[in-house]
Amino acid sequence: MNDNEMNNMNSEFANCDHHPENDYAGLQVNAGIEQPPMVNPYLKRKKRPQLSVNDYVEGIRKGNPAVLGQAVTLVESLVPEHQIVAQEVITKCLPYTGNSRRIGITGVPGAGKSTSIDVFGMHVLNQGGKLAVLAIDPSSERSKGSILGDKTRMEKLSIQPNVFIRPSPSAGSLGGVARKTRETIVLCEAAGYDTIFVETVGVGQSETAVHSMVDYFLLIQLAGTGDELQGIKRGIMEMADGIVINKCDGDNVDRANLAAAQFRNALHLFPLSPSGWLPEVITYSGYYELNIDKVWDMIDRYFAHVRANGFFEEKRREQEKYWMFETINEQLKARFYSDHEVERMLEIKEQMVLNNVQSSFVAATDVLEFYYNKNKINS
Ligand code: GDP
Repeated sequence: MNDNEMNNMNSEFANCDHHPENDYAGLQVNAGIEQPPMVNPYLKRKKRPQLSVNDYVEGIRKGNPAVLGQAVTLVESLVPEHQIVAQEVITKCLPYTGNSRRIGITGVPGAGKSTSIDVFGMHVLNQGGKLAVLAIDPSSERSKGSILGDKTRMEKLSIQPNVFIRPSPSAGSLGGVARKTRETIVLCEAAGYDTIFVETVGVGQSETAVHSMVDYFLLIQLAGTGDELQGIKRGIMEMADGIVINKCDGDNVDRANLAAAQFRNALHLFPLSPSGWLPEVITYSGYYELNIDKVWDMIDRYFAHVRANGFFEEKRREQEKYWMFETINEQLKARFYSDHEVERMLEIKEQMVLNNVQSSFVAATDVLEFYYNKNKINS
């Protein structure tokens, strides 16, 4: 320590002598030492190299999960430049897609979706498959993060090399979130995943979105108080290709079997699906891994059935069409509502409608006319 440093230190201690707490006997406040900065200024963050469209496609085709993950992040990004790259990647991946089984899995929270996906997934892997678990969670927009498709909920699957798990994209409308999940399916298929699970909570419209992107729709139910049929929306039951009653174990077996009988009876009341497949009802236990092969056998038979009668292809074509229109609707709406002048006009018109100055129809027509004129669209 040179003289200068010594003097500085002494003067620091000298300052401490005037510290008010030093007036108390037996208490001595020493000078502190200067704290180093929180972040090491010498640490250079390695910037992730920017991948080109071809890098992405090549990485995905080789089944590189890191590149696949980055590509999905791009798909989910709201940054317009990312979207441009993402769309190019998707277009280049399209020729390598369509070869998987896409299976939607729904059920209310607590029905046992994650437990079941864990064991269903292991069943797929044991048969030599490669599995992607995706999710659509309509609540994630509000909660800023989805619990569905979360790795921590799928203990067995999350440590398997042939599994890609991705939670629900959290930003945007349900339509937007669903479109991103659908595009992620394309990337996963190009990466060689032959089974895709799309998980959702069986409480709202998200089932319709999932139904429109999967080949098979599985509804997980619980045996409850005997009125379980009232608890589920008729629409969801109508969409289901299979209903499985979970937690058929311990002293719940009788109740589960009773619930299964009730579901079978209820299903007979629905018109036969255009696939010509009569939905089946099976009891199982995800936790104790009972009847898992029965559930899987049902799904195998469904795929054999729809591949043989051509419904598999027909449904996929219908879905392509549906998504084209969905994308158009989504983008038209997004453009319209993000126009600042439209936004301001809507605020005024809203008040006029609320105050009975204008009818809702006239107000809507006015705003649309304004938007059409602004964009030179003939209405
Ligand atoms: P999710 O919210 O639909 O994903 O449901 P979880 O898979 O998290 O399961 C909810 C609770 O039910 C957890 O405490 C599980 O341990 C339990 N559970 C799941 N499957 C079974 C089952 O087959 N039998 C029994 N007894 N409990 C189960």
